Amino acid sequence: MSRFDSLPLSPATLENLRQLGYLEMTPIQAASLPAALLGKDLIAQAKTGSGKTAAFALALLANLNARRFAVQSLVLCPTRELADQVTSEIRRLARSEDNVKVVTLSGGVPLRGQTASLGHGAHVVVGTPGRVMDHLDRGNLSLEALNTLVLDEADRMLDMGFSADIEKVARQCPSSRQTLLFSATYPEGIAQLAARFLREPVTVKVDAQH
Ligand code: ADP
Ligand code: MG
Repeated sequence: MSRFDSLPLSPATLENLRQLGYLEMTPIQAASLPAALLGKDLIAQAKTGSGKTAAFALALLANLNARRFAVQSLVLCPTRELADQVTSEIRRLARSEDNVKVVTLSGGVPLRGQTASLGHGAHVVVGTPGRVMDHLDRGNLSLEALNTLVLDEADRMLDMGFSADIEKVARQCPSSRQTLLFSATYPEGIAQLAARFLREPVTVKVDAQH
């Protein structure tokens, strides 16, 4: 079964997916979404271009209550470009919900505008680990109400030396959160990261030839 309507998603979300031309789940979506929508921690490995963004976006949106004015999801990404792509994909997938606010916190962009955006209220934060840590240190951002933490392109974040920042950010999230780790490869460093920050994760892997 790889149809989105086999998942516990709202009719509005399913209609939005249809309008976006997302008719069938990609293999990594079909492998990861059933467990993610049950609230399980997840390690998902699949190559670039396989639809990993929608997999975690649909999971974090399922956990989100837009009437609650607090940051409920955080997606950590290795680069500003990826953070921008993830932000626009989450916005597309959230457009059937009422007013989900997504704020991007990337390095190399002035702090002031980001601080103002956070001040206006955010449900979802997407950002690079160093800059997210900066805002946490400055007291601009609270993760007290967080229910979903996503580590996207976790292998690249480790390669780029973000492991200490990821650790500091994860320590500020409630321990009851759901953690979703996405990666194109599965080096030893990822296993160690997962062992520290995920709870009884389900591991799914889609091989390159599929
Ligand atoms: P990854 O993060 O695995 O590199 P992306 O999430 O960036 O991949 O997705 C790659 C492309 O596939 C995007 O253009 C996205 O819009 C598209 N896509 C994702 N899921 C589906 C789907 N179920 N049906 C059709 N297109 C999809
Ligand atoms: Mg991706």
